[in-house]
Amino acid sequence: MKSYYLKTTRVFSPFRKYAWLFILLVAFGGLWYPKLGLLMIPMVIALALFGFFKEKYWCGNICPHGSLFDYLILPISANRKIPAFLKSKPVRYLAFGWFMFMLGSRLLKVLSLYETAPFLDRLGFIFVMNYFVVTMVGTILAFLISPRTWCSFCPMGTFQNIAYRVGRLLGIAQKTNRKVTITDPAKCINCAKCARVCPMQLTPYLEFSQSNQMSNDSCIACASCIENCPVKILAFRRDGNLPANIEGEREKVIAR
Ligand code: SF4
Ligand code: SF4
Repeated sequence: MKSYYLKTTRVFSPFRKYAWLFILLVAFGGLWYPKLGLLMIPMVIALALFGFFKEKYWCGNICPHGSLFDYLILPISANRKIPAFLKSKPVRYLAFGWFMFMLGSRLLKVLSLYETAPFLDRLGFIFVMNYFVVTMVGTILAFLISPRTWCSFCPMGTFQNIAYRVGRLLGIAQKTNRKVTITDPAKCINCAKCARVCPMQLTPYLEFSQSNQMSNDSCIACASCIENCPVKILAFRRDGNLPANIEGEREKVIAR
């Protein structure tokens, strides 16, 4: 049966195309040289900072797994509907809690080796194994269901949602984040293409609020809906839908 979801291009920058190479380095190279796993420490810090200012922008534009799923696996994926329970809040928070518990308990064990020779290798290996397991599970789900199935409940995505909420509480994130916005609702032809190309299988055209913006914490700001809307009425706008020139916004999206 033909899938409702479309396999259109989701890669809009060279970085997004080749970020998956980082997985080869850490998840596979780290099996031989575990210190490579230490690269994950600055990466998690960067991810938290992006989350604080721009919610899930990292997932749609920088994440190496996102690059693997969208660039390499999409053409051969079954591209089916992601089961609703995998996107539900309880599953997302359960996955986050389990991940933090496992990571925390392993880190505590390794910390007892601090100032001994194998410490850095053991520390790095924790991150290597985490990355390796995510790569394996995420790749299988991407093949069998849809490329971004893992991303529907990825603990790092939930971590960014939490960081963003902190950013909003401090009154900062709403000034830096950009939301998918419909610039001219009257021109929408309800073709649903924005929904059919969305890697997270969201439904932008059905989700715009009175301020013409979509506030869905699963949105990864990937711009696929913006790029594929046939009447070009979607754009990223600041929270609150501040007026801006449509073409100018689209150029900014492509340049990002
Ligand atoms: S792709 Fe554009 S025109 Fe089609 S439903 Fe979405 S917003 Fe409307
Ligand atoms: S709604 Fe648009 S920007 Fe958000 S994840 Fe879906 S396609 Fe990407």
